[in-house]
Amino acid sequence: MPHRPVPPSRSVAVGTNPERTRSHNRRVVLETVRQHGQLGRSDIAVLTRLTAQAVSNIVAELVEEGFLIELGRRRTARGQPPVEFAVNPDGGMTAGMEIAADHITTVLVDLAGRVRAQRIAPLADATVAGVQQLAATELAWVRQAAGLPERLLGCGVVMPGPFEIEGMSSVGTSPLPGWAGQDAAQLLAEALNTPVVIENDATAAAVGEHLHGLGRNLRHFCQIYFGAGLGLGVIIGGQPYRGAFGNAGEIGHIPVVAGGRLCACGGHGCLERYASVHALTETLREAGIVAAGPEEIVQLHRSGHPALTGWVAEAATLLAPVVAMLENLFDPETVILGGEMPDEVVDAMIAAMTPLPISVASRRGRSIPRVQRGATGRLTAALGAAALPLLDTMTPKLDRVSLAPESELSPG
Ligand SMILES: [Zn+2]
Repeated sequence: MPHRPVPPSRSVAVGTNPERTRSHNRRVVLETVRQHGQLGRSDIAVLTRLTAQAVSNIVAELVEEGFLIELGRRRTARGQPPVEFAVNPDGGMTAGMEIAADHITTVLVDLAGRVRAQRIAPLADATVAGVQQLAATELAWVRQAAGLPERLLGCGVVMPGPFEIEGMSSVGTSPLPGWAGQDAAQLLAEALNTPVVIENDATAAAVGEHLHGLGRNLRHFCQIYFGAGLGLGVIIGGQPYRGAFGNAGEIGHIPVVAGGRLCACGGHGCLERYASVHALTETLREAGIVAAGPEEIVQLHRSGHPALTGWVAEAATLLAPVVAMLENLFDPETVILGGEMPDEVVDAMIAAMTPLPISVASRRGRSIPRVQRGATGRLTAALGAAALPLLDTMTPKLDRVSLAPESELSPG
């Protein structure tokens, strides 16, 4: 995907002065240049609030190590024009991986944000050892496919949440047996031999849509994500909102049907018992259609199969008030639907939600629809994950749920 300089209005990470940690300031400088496309030293100093001397030293190091490239002097009306710097796309890579119930999606993204390799592989064994083995194989595959002498700076991994909730076990719908209570970041860092940052799937999907999809020009949006269950990612002011413990947006467990279906969380009538890929496959199974994958679901949709049509109508009826609730809570520019659900089915759900209930978003002169299908499809969460090794450590306030060991951004 083409490199897209982010407009200066976007919030930037701020460095620490004097140097609290050297690696932190290096990451801040690199991320600031990446966001703006190209910058001179004095602009970097202003944006990062680091001293001119600190910026000068860090820029020199980053150039020498191949993370930044010197572009030459910018033409200006007067005075000595500043030398400008840009991120070297070939200077390093980050990997993003989505570990889902039955597959692992892996992407390799360069420092300029371009996808260099991608792959989806079936996951037969979701135990710790099985995931470790396949994850290592997949990472090796995309690194090989990229065909570049790349430096891997880390891997962002998305796994289904919620994390560490007592009395709200995901056992039953959790696709990853044996992972409860484990230090997933540590186990995966060992298997992948690179620093690992863990994120929940819906938040990573929102970051992916923000960097690569429909959310590119948006600063405030909600992303409803069809993953293992039903999740919500929220981007506020260009940043993901995670809550105090990284579990914000667990909308799948909002009760929507009084006395409804029993949920694995222990509650009844939870939204994801009706509006999720799992709920759809369950409905189809009850209609005698077993093991329906994405292609079969699309076929059933095209042929107007009553089980699928009925499911879409019910899910849309339950989702529509939740969309209005999200609008009233967050006042987003739009609500994006995406994830594992086939595009055509998402489109049908959006159509079936119309007209949406009245909310603060019901206003004349809207430039974009209230609800839209995401643009990045099944790669969404993995793309967001690939941004985490850089993004997460760039922004100190995001450190709360970062399970990765503090690691140096170092060459090699
Ligand atoms: Zn529930």
